[in-house]
Amino acid sequence: MIDTVLDILSIRKDFPILNRKVNGYPLVYLDNAATSQTPQKVIDAIVDYYSRYNANIHRGVHSLSQEATDAYEQARKKIQLHFNAAHTHEILFTSGTTHGVNLVANGFGSFLKEGDEVIVSALEHHSNIVPWQMMCERSGAVLKVIPMNLEGELVMEAYHELLSDRTKLVFCNHVSNALGTVNPIKEIIEAAHRVGAAVLIDGAQAAPHLKADVQQLDVDFYVVSAHKMCGPTGVGVLYGKEEWLNKLPPYQGGGEMIAEVTFEKTTYAELPHKFEAGTPNICGGIAFGAALDYMNAIGFEAIAQYEHELLEYATKELLAIEGLRIYGNGKEKTAVVSFNIEGLHPYDIGSILDKLGVAVRTGHHCAQPIMDFYKIPGTVRASFSFYNTKEEVDVLVKSVKRAQAMLS
Ligand SMILES: *Cc1c(COP(=O)(O)O)cnc(C)c1O
Repeated sequence: MIDTVLDILSIRKDFPILNRKVNGYPLVYLDNAATSQTPQKVIDAIVDYYSRYNANIHRGVHSLSQEATDAYEQARKKIQLHFNAAHTHEILFTSGTTHGVNLVANGFGSFLKEGDEVIVSALEHHSNIVPWQMMCERSGAVLKVIPMNLEGELVMEAYHELLSDRTKLVFCNHVSNALGTVNPIKEIIEAAHRVGAAVLIDGAQAAPHLKADVQQLDVDFYVVSAHKMCGPTGVGVLYGKEEWLNKLPPYQGGGEMIAEVTFEKTTYAELPHKFEAGTPNICGGIAFGAALDYMNAIGFEAIAQYEHELLEYATKELLAIEGLRIYGNGKEKTAVVSFNIEGLHPYDIGSILDKLGVAVRTGHHCAQPIMDFYKIPGTVRASFSFYNTKEEVDVLVKSVKRAQAMLS
């Protein structure tokens, strides 16, 4: 066991799924960058909601509806405090990161005209590429790309050269899901603001590992998904600065987002409701709050420190395997190891690992441009969480060696 501030064995007891076997072997879950596992406290919050106070929010005068509304709004408050937003109404519930990006892309497009430029990074997840391409098609704006280098880092000199008074918006992830690179977003945001451009940061992959302070970053939009940070699927948050959210047009029309409706004219509700049409994922929002409570009780500093130890150990052990190459060797990384073995297809390695109970992801990780850059079809990606152990790294390494022996 790594000498650590965390009591990993007792933390593991909080996650019932970690007890199960897969194909006769104890589960070694190393696909945390795709989705994290759910602690009992979050499962309890979900069961409690449906067992005791399931009701629609914001409209009912009856007790259940008020209890549900209070719990949902309390979760919003927890999320505000977690990300240090200035106002609760700057926290919009979404169905996840993808929804958050689409919401901003849809509204921001109406401010753009032909000849305007927007900048994306080469390290993005498809969900932080495609909505912007759609926005550019509609508006005539031009999409520019910050290139990456072989280490899997952004080439910052090139970014500074791309910026001009034509630049209206920059979007970039905080941490790359495919490689684990932590991007210098503070520098990205400051430079964009100097030319008057707004910035959206995709925090989906950062939020499970580090705590972003949106005021300190001075970021305009920050998007996350609950399911990557011990919460349920189908819920996330878009943080937006009040002035931007007031400027952006609503995304979807419907119930909850209106002030008054007649057939002649509809006026929109105040923030955050203007962007929250229809019945939301009430239980999901409440469970997201419970997930943040759980992670904050462990502490993000301790989590980051422990995960870094796991990353260093896994990197060292994996590199000892002959023919193994790791993609993404940036100076600042979260605990993601993306690799290939010479002559073997990532899918074949992943399939054998699964037979041995080890869950990793294989493929392009929704980041095809990165794979094209390295001229590979994909990688095997092991992504760690604070509930993983050094012993599990050993199982991974042993299993990769076994796969290599079987396949070559
Ligand atoms: C997971 C992920 C997304 C997409 O999140 P969804 O929950 O599928 O909407 C976007 N960007 C990054 C960096 C991610 O890791």
